Amino acid sequence: MNAPLLRRIVIVGGGSAGWMTAAALSSLLGPKDVAITLVESDAIGTVGVGEATIPDILAFHRMLGVNEAEFMAATRATFKLGIEFVDWGAKGDRYIHPFGQHGVDMQGIDFHQYWLRAREDGATDPIEAYSLCAVAAQAGRFVLPDPNPRSVLSQIRYAYHFDATLYARFLRRYAETRGVVRVEGTVGEVGQDARGDIARLTLSDGRVVEGDFFFDCTGFRALLIGQTLDAGFVDWSPWLPCDTALAVPSAHAGAPTPYTRSTARDAGWQWRIPTQRRVGNGHIFASAFQSEDAARDVMLATLEAAPLADPRRITFRAGCRERFWQGNCIAIGLAAGFLEPLESTSIYLIQEGISRFISLFPRGDIPEILRTEYNRHMRTEFEQVRDFIILHYAATTRDDTPFWNYCRTMTLPDTLLHKIELFRETGRVFRYNDELFARPSWVAVMLGQGIMPTTSDPIVATLPADDVARSLASMREAMAAAVQRMPTHGEFLLRYCPAV
Ligand code: FAD
Repeated sequence: MNAPLLRRIVIVGGGSAGWMTAAALSSLLGPKDVAITLVESDAIGTVGVGEATIPDILAFHRMLGVNEAEFMAATRATFKLGIEFVDWGAKGDRYIHPFGQHGVDMQGIDFHQYWLRAREDGATDPIEAYSLCAVAAQAGRFVLPDPNPRSVLSQIRYAYHFDATLYARFLRRYAETRGVVRVEGTVGEVGQDARGDIARLTLSDGRVVEGDFFFDCTGFRALLIGQTLDAGFVDWSPWLPCDTALAVPSAHAGAPTPYTRSTARDAGWQWRIPTQRRVGNGHIFASAFQSEDAARDVMLATLEAAPLADPRRITFRAGCRERFWQGNCIAIGLAAGFLEPLESTSIYLIQEGISRFISLFPRGDIPEILRTEYNRHMRTEFEQVRDFIILHYAATTRDDTPFWNYCRTMTLPDTLLHKIELFRETGRVFRYNDELFARPSWVAVMLGQGIMPTTSDPIVATLPADDVARSLASMREAMAAAVQRMPTHGEFLLRYCPAV
């Protein structure tokens, strides 16, 4: 006989992770079947950063049935077409990692092979001249994708920059409307049963919240998964030595750009994320290589306009849980692990944690195989993202500071080393296990940071040079013409969500 369903789900934490979990579960489960309670502490508050996303967030919103214009107005969101990387491969370098593809694959052969061939023939265009998102981003223009797959504009892929605090508030409204009960209070004590499963939370004012299943969304505190269940932590800081962030909003100096900027600094990097009314800035650095005062000075000296608050300091360690799901508890968000936001992946990893849980939704008794499957999947997700982030540090020729010397010469994970060597020697990149970052992303970063394959595809090499040049020129011209017809990002925002 089937065991009963879980009847009481408790989410601890009301940041993006907690409210995304609450929203997703409440969109699927009615309050009569499963009672969902979210406990959050106003006294502790949220981390309050996390403003840049990747296109996968659109799928999450589709699942919830969120109206895009309403979401954008409520969170003061702007559109994002990719990330501009400045000073990464070498000082003075600049490239865009755009969403979507470069050019069009032809006859089953990857587009970048045609680009490599044209380069051998003397062409000098960067590969991003063939990305609609990159060209539009640089021109400060935006339009939604054309659903007609024959249109050039069907190649638009986008995500958002938004205010993380407003996002949590937006999802809270969504979840409460669907029956999620919010309890404000600070959890003081976590009670376990004889098996070691979590049974109840005692708040500092004595109230007790009981549950059958718990989500730890308590951020870096990791109150349940770490402090109570001791689910282990895999430390990746030898590959990702940055451990401190200073975050500060500033005013806009111009119209909001439809892309994030990441500028490499002496011992880390600085983000620039334009939302509708302000710019989010942050300097992420390795404290073993730079003092906090020096990091603060660099950031404040490079803001485009006056800061709107004092810089906030956040410390972290790169890595993830050894077990994301232990007993009757799953960690989502910062409690599950942290990879610096160089490619804006944390909110994606939250989404992935939620959807994998939904696809493995247990009955009251939880077979160990479910936990094993969940943990295996999330570990793979984290490791694949980790490799892609390390790539940015490893693929550099910078030798101007001890930090960059360390990064340039560190021993890499075998999985990443294989990818880099395969590309360097043959120009080939393959996507394994549905990994988040597909071939165009790897190609953008590897070429952008100066890893140039020593050979191009031998089949493409047999094509007449003029034919290759003509195909590329027609793609480039079609994109440039399409971008010329787009409204500016600012104009589009005004029309689309008039609250700007
Ligand atoms: P938090 O926001 O910290 O929320 C924790 C919650 O738990 C709070 O509600 C708190 O009150 C509650 N809580 C804690 N202890 C208790 C207790 N004892 N009792 C009751 N409640 C408790 N992600 C991106 O996708 N894009 C980005 O650009 C990006 N930038 C980032 C920059 C930095 C510097 C950092 C550190 C992170 C960034 N992230 C980014 C990650 C992103 O901020 C987080 O993944 C996201 O905000 C989720 O955080 P969270 O909900 O896990 O934690």
